[in-house]
Formats: sequence, C-alpha cells, structure tokens
Amino acid sequence: MTGKITFTMIKPSAFAAGHAGQILARIEEAGYRIIALKKVTLSLEQAGSFYEMHQGKPFYDELTAMMSSGPIVAAVLEKENAVEAFRTFIGATDPAKAAEGTIRKLYGKSLSENAVHGSDSDESAARESAFFFSSLEMF
Ligand code: ADP
Ligand code: MG
Repeated sequence: MTGKITFTMIKPSAFAAGHAGQILARIEEAGYRIIALKKVTLSLEQAGSFYEMHQGKPFYDELTAMMSSGPIVAAVLEKENAVEAFRTFIGATDPAKAAEGTIRKLYGKSLSENAVHGSDSDESAARESAFFFSSLEMF
C-alpha cells in the first residue's frame, strides 16, 4: 500500500525563468491537490541538510549551490500513489532523457537545473514535507 502524499520543489532556475505558475497549473491539471505551498530561499547549509543523502557524491556541491541560488517554491501534494505517479509525471532526472510532455522535459535545462524535485519514497515525502512545513501548515 502506497501513500497519497509527495513533496516537490520548483527549483531556482525554473522559478527565475518565470515558470512557477505554469508548473503549478500543470500539477493541478494532473489531479494533484495542493496541501501546503510556500516560496522560500534556502541557505547553502539548509540545501545541504535537505540533500544530506547525496553528501559525498560528485554533484553534491553543484546541487546545493544551485538549490540555494534563489527562491524556490515548495509544496506538498496529494494524489493516489503520489510518489510514483509524480515521478512519472516529472520525468527522468536528466531533462535530455525525460519523456515528451513531462515537466523536466518541458522546463528543465540541465541535470542540476532540472526544474523540479520529487520525493523518491513515502518516507522521503514525510521527511521532506516536515523539513519545510509544520503540521499546522499542511491540510
Ligand atoms: P531525482 O531528483 O530524480 O530524485 P537524484 O535524487 O538522484 O535525482 O539527485 C538529486 C538531484 O541532484 C537531481 O534532481 C539533479 O538536479 C541533481 N543531480 C543528480 N545527478 C547529477 C549529476 N550527475 N550531475 C549534476 N547534478 C545531478
Ligand atoms: Mg532524489
């Protein structure tokens, strides 16, 4: 049995390009209900903490620098089988390999500037949602 919740971020490059509204509209059109939503700029330390599971990987410094380079939009989303469905919806990590019509294909520029984040498990979705939102902010 899989959960109904996933967590997403619109990454700084997509926000800076003015795509936040379009991406949120596509998410809603795809049947996700927005449970929580905010715009925030992460410090390098906060980005490092969010992506702590990637510490030591070759792309960690580039990833955390990029994620703290400007405003992001963080959101908690609800739908049946949310984690798996959303990862299919956003497409492969590398926008060049993402399927036609996916968010990363449409709005991604490169591996690190791939437009959006999507949780990889129910456990990650819970952890990542709690990283940005209190229980009072999710409903
Ligand atoms: P995903 O976001 O698809 O779950 P990962 O969790 O593996 O992918 O990686 C987290 C983020 O790190 C990716 O969304 C991407 O922006 C970045 N990233 C992953 N691999 C690379 C890489 N080889 N070079 C640069 N950035 C990368
Ligand atoms: Mg991941």
